[in-house]
Amino acid sequence: MKMSSLCVKSANNKETTHPHQLPIYATSSFVFEEVEDSIDIFTGQRKGHVYSRYGNPTVDAVAEKISRLETFGSDIEAFGLMTSSGMSAISTVIASLFKKGDKLITQGNLYGGTTELIKKVFVKMGMEAAFIDLTDLNLLEKHLKEDDQIKMIYFETPSNPTLDCIDIKGVAQLAKKYNIKTIVDNTFCTPYLQQPLLLGVDYVIHSTTKYLSGHGNTIAGAIIGREEDKSLVWQHLKLMGTNCNPFDAWLVNNGLKTLSLRMDRHSKNAQELATYLQNHKMVSKVNYNGLSDHPFHKLAKKQMSQFGGMLSFEVKGGMKAALKCMNRLKFCTQAPTLGDVDTLILHPATSSHLNIPESMRIENGISDGLIRVSVGIEDIEDLKADFDQAFAEC
Ligand SMILES: *Cc1c(COP(=O)(O)O)cnc(C)c1O
Repeated sequence: MKMSSLCVKSANNKETTHPHQLPIYATSSFVFEEVEDSIDIFTGQRKGHVYSRYGNPTVDAVAEKISRLETFGSDIEAFGLMTSSGMSAISTVIASLFKKGDKLITQGNLYGGTTELIKKVFVKMGMEAAFIDLTDLNLLEKHLKEDDQIKMIYFETPSNPTLDCIDIKGVAQLAKKYNIKTIVDNTFCTPYLQQPLLLGVDYVIHSTTKYLSGHGNTIAGAIIGREEDKSLVWQHLKLMGTNCNPFDAWLVNNGLKTLSLRMDRHSKNAQELATYLQNHKMVSKVNYNGLSDHPFHKLAKKQMSQFGGMLSFEVKGGMKAALKCMNRLKFCTQAPTLGDVDTLILHPATSSHLNIPESMRIENGISDGLIRVSVGIEDIEDLKADFDQAFAEC
């Protein structure tokens, strides 16, 4: 072999032992030893990787771990697939189910990007969508009874940023009765706190960007469902090219190692902060499922093992006081994401809900004074001290 050829050839070390940690397979394709291998793998007679858009060992290992977490404690045979973002998980699973003329039913207070995806992409392609109050199961059944074009129910619980809960089991039972597929966005809870597949839902999606990775340094998503539904979703993933890259999957894998520790701490800190806020004279309202007077406390307790790290509260004094408070909070970081190890704050009225008409925003409980907190895992005393000094000046 000439030196220039040696430059081209892969540096393959076949003498190594098994790695302790998951390696990043930075390769677009995989080698067939013999042409028969390729036939067996392409026809599905043998497992093996072909091309990284179809599947990659790093990505698949992490996807499988997420699917095992989502079905932990049950005998459900599930698949897991990772996608390039939470949004691509949502678009891939909806696209796999959707046929022209189908109707999707969902809630008014979805993650903003999901509402836009439905209205600006799927409705443009011929989908009908109804945004209703899914906390009202009678209303849902009325829709299902009257309209046999409804083929999908898509929802998230607890919702953003007021933490309303939807009865997962109740919705899933109605959906079964009318032969409709259900999809739950489980980003806020993670499988450590809530397992929608065990409550009868067909698909769970995640923005793994948030709690599953937990460190704010990746954008990725996941789809988990029953094994028999895998091929349809996988077909859409590989044809739409919504696959996750190995580096981001690897970062999610690192985050997953501490998921249980983080979620325990997020929940504990959020409960303490919610109680502190509820007792503060500058605060008129606290939205946190863990508070016994929260309207969805009972339902949350039924379907979640802990109440999670997200809360929101209203500062007395409206917009002016809320903005002042935002700027005075120094230990907390102002950032438009959630689920990181550090505490993040957001003022929905001037950010995530800026383009929503004021009357509709207020009706959904997103007042001018509302601040959303993604409570981190820091020492709770530092957090309370930050709110103390911020409120002193508001
Ligand atoms: C962030 C988020 C998404 C979108 O996820 P990306 O990873 O940003 O694409 C979807 N649903 C919820 C609840 C989210 O918080």
